[in-house]
Order: sequence, then C-alpha cells, then structure tokens
Amino acid sequence: MFVLFALIVAWVAMKLSSQFYMADLQLRSQATLSVQAAGLEKYLDKYRLLPPLLAQRSDIVRILADNEHERGQNVAKVIAGMSGAQEVWFQKPEGEIVASNLIEHASVAGLGVSSYGDALQAARQGRLGRQLVLSRNGGAASYVFIAPVRQGEQDYGFIAVRVSLEEVEQNWALSKDRLVAVDQNGIVVATNQASWRGERLDAERTARNGRAAGEQNGVIDRRWEDQDFQLVRLNPPLNKTNFQMIEQDLPVLNWQVVLFADTAQVRQQAIWAALVAVLLCVVSSGLFWMAGERRRRLLERMRQDKDYAERLEARVHERTRELSTMNALLAQEVREREVAEKELQHAQAGLVQSAKLATLGEMSAAISHEFNQPLGAIRTHSENAQVLIESGKSDRALKSLGKIVAMVERMAAISQILKGFTRKAGRDLMPVKVSAVIDEVLMLTGPRCKQMGVNLEVVQDDKSIEVLAGQVRLSQVLMNLMGNALDAMKAQDGPLIRISVLREEQQAVIRFEDNGPGVPDNVAASIFDPFFTTKDVGEGLGLGLSIAFKIIKDLEGELRYEQSELGGACFVIVLQDAAALSGDPKEKEIEYGRMGD
Ligand code: ADP
Repeated sequence: MFVLFALIVAWVAMKLSSQFYMADLQLRSQATLSVQAAGLEKYLDKYRLLPPLLAQRSDIVRILADNEHERGQNVAKVIAGMSGAQEVWFQKPEGEIVASNLIEHASVAGLGVSSYGDALQAARQGRLGRQLVLSRNGGAASYVFIAPVRQGEQDYGFIAVRVSLEEVEQNWALSKDRLVAVDQNGIVVATNQASWRGERLDAERTARNGRAAGEQNGVIDRRWEDQDFQLVRLNPPLNKTNFQMIEQDLPVLNWQVVLFADTAQVRQQAIWAALVAVLLCVVSSGLFWMAGERRRRLLERMRQDKDYAERLEARVHERTRELSTMNALLAQEVREREVAEKELQHAQAGLVQSAKLATLGEMSAAISHEFNQPLGAIRTHSENAQVLIESGKSDRALKSLGKIVAMVERMAAISQILKGFTRKAGRDLMPVKVSAVIDEVLMLTGPRCKQMGVNLEVVQDDKSIEVLAGQVRLSQVLMNLMGNALDAMKAQDGPLIRISVLREEQQAVIRFEDNGPGVPDNVAASIFDPFFTTKDVGEGLGLGLSIAFKIIKDLEGELRYEQSELGGACFVIVLQDAAALSGDPKEKEIEYGRMGD
C-alpha cells in the first residue's frame, strides 16, 4: 500500500518536474536557436550583397572583357582576403572561368557548372544567383552567390563568391546543443555534428526518398508530438535520452534551423525529484507513523491510567469502608476503654484507700495500745481526782484533772490525724509542709516504733520546706515507706530509721533510709511493680510501693530506690519545691484555686 502510494507520488513528482524542466529547457533552447539562426542568416546576408557590388567595378568588367587571367586572379585573391569569402571567381557568359583565387583542384568553380547551375541560371536571367554547394569530401558545405557583370546591354560574364559554412559550424560548435540547418530537401547543410553533414534530417523525408529509416547514419529515429515541442530520439542512439527538437524557418534561404537539446539533464532532474518525493514520502510517513505510534501509546497510557485510577478508587472505597468499620470499632473500643479506665480509676482509688486502711490496720494494735495507756491513766487519775475531791484536796484533784485533759488532748490529736488520714485523697496540688507530714506519720507510727525499739532520726535543717503535693497522699506514701521499713527490720538489732529533707535547686528531696537488710539487686527492679512482694501470704499484697510510685508520679515528682549508707534501703522522693515557684502564676492557682486533700 505504502509502496504503491510512494510510487504514485514519485511518478507525479517526476511528471511535474519533467514538465517544468522541459519548459525551462525549451525556453533556453528557443533563445539559443534564435541567436544561432540569426547568426547564420546574417552571415550569409553579409556576402549576398558582395557580388552585385563587385559587378559594378570597372576593373572586374575589364578582367572579364579582356580575359585577364592573372589580374583576375590577383583581384579575386584580394577580394577573398578582404571579405573572408572562401572563393571568388570570374566567369565568362559561356561558362569559361577567367580567374579564381584558388588553384583548380581546390576550386568549386573548377568542379563544373553542374554544382552551381541553378545559381548560374538565375544570374543569366539578371538576378542574384544563389546556391548551396555540398562538399564532396565530407567537409563543410558552401554557399555560392553569383551576380551578372553587365554594362549597358553588354554582358561580360559573372562574378561568383563562395562562402564556406564552416565558420557558422565553428560558432555552433560552442553550443552544447546539437544544431542543424537543413535545406528544403531536408539535407543537412550546416551542423555542429560533423557526421550529420549531408544526411537527411527526418524519417518522413528519408522514406520519401526511398531509403528506410534507421538504415542510414541518419539523424532522426522517431518523433513525439508534444504540446510545444517535439521529442525525438536520435539515430544512432547517442544515449538513451530523448532530445527536444525545436525548429525555426529561414524563409529567405528556404532553410530550417533545427536545435536538438539533450533532455538527459531533465530526466536526471526528474529522477532526482522522484527520489526526493520518495524520500519525503518515507520521511513523512515515518513521521506520521511515529506520531500515530505516539498517539497510540498515549491513548494506551491514558487507558492504563484510567484503569489504574479506577482500581485505585475502588481500593480507596474499600479501604475507606474498612477504615470506617475500623473507626467505628475503635470508637467503640475507646468508649469501652474509657469506661474501663473510669472503673480502673475508681478501683485504684479504692485500692489506695484500702492500702491506706491496711497500713492503719497493721498499726491498729500499736495505736490501740497508745490509746489504752492514756485511757488507763485517765481512769486512774479520774479515780484519784474523785478521792481527792471527796477528801477536800481539790488543788491536788485539779492537778490530776489537768493531766487527764492533757492526755485527752493527745488522744484527740491522734484521732484527728487518723480521721484526716482515713479521708479520701483529693487530686489537686498545693503547698504542703514536709515537717508537718513527717510529724503526722511519726505520731501514727510512733507506737509501733516504740514497740520495736526503733531509733528515729529526722534530719531537717529547714522545717519550713513546702512541696507541691497533697497532705494525705504524701503522708500515705511516707506511712507506707515507714511500714515497709519496720517490716524489714523486724529481726534487726538496733533498728534505725533516718528521714532527711533537703532542698536541691528547685526541688525538695526526702530520703527515707533504714539499716535493715535492704533490697537485693535482683529484685530491686521489680519492687515498684504491682503485686510484687517478698512477704509471706497474708503479710503483704505487693501493692504498697506501686501505689506510692503512682501517687508521687501524680504529684509530678519521682520515687526511686537506692542503697542506703546505713546498710538498708533508701527511698528517695523528689517533689517540686513550692517556694521555688513563688512569683509563678502557678502559685496563685495553688493558693486560691485549689482545695487540698
Ligand atoms: P508489701 O509490703 O505488701 O510486700 P510493697 O510494694 O510495699 O508490698 O513492697 C514490695 C517489696 O519491697 C516488699 O515485699 C519488700 O521485699 C521490698 N521492700 C520494701 N521496702 C523495703 C525495705 N525498707 N527494706 C527491704 N525491703 C523492702
């Protein structure tokens, strides 16, 4: 299909280009032909006037009249030399040659009247005779002009001038086109192709003369009729191309000048045009194919992109659905967790409270002892007071009553602390005096310490140190640490507990140390874990330290274990120093915005 198309395009290009170049060639050839034909005409025209003019000369009349051979020869030579004519001769009316510038054998005149008889005939009739004389030895043809030499009624003879057409042929030889001048019989009289001299020009004329076309060394093989010119093939074929044949008539001479322009170049140009057309065809169809291919690929990619986008959209829908479901599940889970957290918080609060009460429970024996002792004393002092009052010793009775009041106040203070301690802890932070909390704890644990004979050391240079905490929560932590220390030192000789309070930069550090066995390294990492205990069943739940840890964390502080210098355990509580925050907006909040626990 493509090949057919390319062939058609090539053919059209070839046709158009050959038409164009043919027209161009014709134009140029036409111009050349006009110039060369005019040249030929002018050349012969120049000599046409020469014999009539010379016939007027008296010396020429005399030469003929007196038969002056030698003089005639000289004059003829001078005329030939000056005019450029090939031959000049003088002839008597009877035909006898008086003189010629050439020696006999080279002279046309010498050939006899037969070769220029027509011209002579015309001259006899008083006209200018003219005749073409073909060369017999293959040379250039000549043209003879003969004029009668007359004076009055007296006929002296003729003067003839022969001009060779060689000069014209030499001029034509410069042209690259083939030029031919043919006479009325179609015989080549002048040409720039030496071998064509004397031949007949076309087949038609050749046939008429009884010679078959092609047999001869002829000129024309065939003819093509075209619009403005004829295309011919020359015989013998010079090459495979045709020649553009353009003719121009020379009416005066009754000749025709014919120009054969070689169309090889036209053919070459047409072939080039066809090649360029085919090339363009190939290139443009290549480009077309590439564009088509690109478009096809683009469409394919667009289709793939669309497919991909659709698949992606479907996946996104699916994922969105999944995510929505998951979201709903998560929301449900969050709700459940919130409920669980609330329950946990509730349980934790309960646990803290329980742990606190458990600590109290542990100390209840000692506390009840603490209460029993003053109660017994109060009873004794009351009875004493009774007796003393009855016996009228009221001043001594007053003393006993005073002791009773002091003991009741002490019991009231203990019960007040107990009441406070058993209260549920709050959640806010407020400045809490550390020394007060330590006093409280010592008062609550005092009876047990006393029972165990524990040596208590409180190292506190500045008793005014306040930390951000909650009173009950901090005392619960210290109570727990105290309980653990006492538990650990059950079998300790000379048990010692040291509580020291220090200010370090913006923090307050409470160190709680004992000289018990301490915590072995392998369990030290676990003691803050819930339900971790080394105590026997029924003695500990393993919650005390984990609760204490959580409480301190809630107070934005830190609780850690270290080994004590005393040989036992050391629990370090780091809390924010309330005084360090003075001037801080937080302080105002603490002072006015919060309720302590
Ligand atoms: P419990 O007292 O119920 O065991 P805790 O959480 O209060 O639970 O304590 C966890 C463990 O830490 C204790 O079982 C004990 O082994 C260890 N411990 C706590 N305080 C001390 C201490 N002062 N000396 C030695 N061991 C301690």
